[in-house]
Amino acid sequence: MFQAFLIKYGEIGIKGKNRYLFEDALVNQIKHALKHVEGQFRVTKEQGRIYVEALEEYDFQEVTEALQRVFGIVGICPVVILEDQGFEKLAEDVLSYVKEQYPGKNPTFKVHARRARKDYPMESMEINRELGARILEAFPDMKVDVHEPELLLCVEIRQKIYLYSEVLPGPGGMPVGTNGKSMLLLSGGIDSPVAGYMVAKRGVKIDAVYFHAPPYTSERAKQKVIDLAKKVSRYTGPIYLYVVNFTDIQLYIYEKCPHDELTIIMRRYMMRIAEQIARNTGSLGLITGESIGQVASQTVPSLAATNEVCTMPVFRPLIAFDKEDIVTISKKIDTFETSIQPFEDCCTIFVAKHPVTKPNVNVIRRSEQRLEEKIDQMVDTAIREAELVIVG
Ligand code: ATP
Ligand code: MG
Repeated sequence: MFQAFLIKYGEIGIKGKNRYLFEDALVNQIKHALKHVEGQFRVTKEQGRIYVEALEEYDFQEVTEALQRVFGIVGICPVVILEDQGFEKLAEDVLSYVKEQYPGKNPTFKVHARRARKDYPMESMEINRELGARILEAFPDMKVDVHEPELLLCVEIRQKIYLYSEVLPGPGGMPVGTNGKSMLLLSGGIDSPVAGYMVAKRGVKIDAVYFHAPPYTSERAKQKVIDLAKKVSRYTGPIYLYVVNFTDIQLYIYEKCPHDELTIIMRRYMMRIAEQIARNTGSLGLITGESIGQVASQTVPSLAATNEVCTMPVFRPLIAFDKEDIVTISKKIDTFETSIQPFEDCCTIFVAKHPVTKPNVNVIRRSEQRLEEKIDQMVDTAIREAELVIVG
């Protein structure tokens, strides 16, 4: 019954020149979201509005769910499109719309007409009044409420006539692509997919890097990360995932450095490598799933020691979240079930029994000196040989 959707988006911060960038990005993301949906759609932007028109049969739920994953959308209005065959026919169609959509409900209502073309023979106020009268006549138990109507019936006079009243909630946020690009350190855990989702929701395009250590971590663990990237890409659009082989570097650190410092030193190398790949590929920030105090490597001193090697901003959207709250989001975005699959993304032999929780940066730096120049070559090799997997 609905041939189109009117897309509502937040108006804040998109004045002037930014407006078309925001709208173009939104149109792009909508097109991307609909690519995976059955049916043909046309997405158009006109007079400050975005419409999605169905050109063939489609599944209502599938389409609205896809649109509900597009950041920047605040509301989705299913629209009935009518041919303009004169006011009498319009009034008739409006009555059957009310009857079908609100059977026996008798909501309070208000008609809101808008003329996108001024050659229509009636003015908006006149249309409101006349349609209101017809509705009251046909449904004697309905009442007008101009302030807080339960049913706001919108009638847009364009080439054709657009009729809508329902608004499904969108996810909010800003369209991906309006705030630059950042590199997500994506592991197989619960946190990092959620972190990527949250930053993407602010309009940031996401690339990702995953460190694996074959044969200590399995092919299956890598596939799990690819699966997670795929889940996140339903919100973000395609993700370029760089898979970095970290085995030699880990073994070398294990050989040379005190074992209680291993995690911190490894994490510092992850950040260095991620930042270098980010720089090479146009990302301006890094994203991690870190949260204060969650594990030994995420105490404030540990985070400070890890952060010290980065020159790019590091976005940690989960920094003050409890695990429970993170889990709630991961369930909502459907990454949870994948995240809890039992494939380790980090080999236990590299994890000390009693890792330092208050690392001293000077001590860590001194330990890293034992790695000499050889580590720089290993880092270069790891970056050069990173495998690119395009997901989504
Ligand atoms: P997660 O649930 O995201 O795996 P975690 O609680 O297991 O996080 P850590 O293992 O300390 O915490 O990792 C902290 C962050 O470092 C992760 O959120 C992720 O951003 C990054 N990270 C950890 N391991 C890897 C990895 N193998 N590849 C890429 N990034 C990683
Ligand atoms: Mg982890």
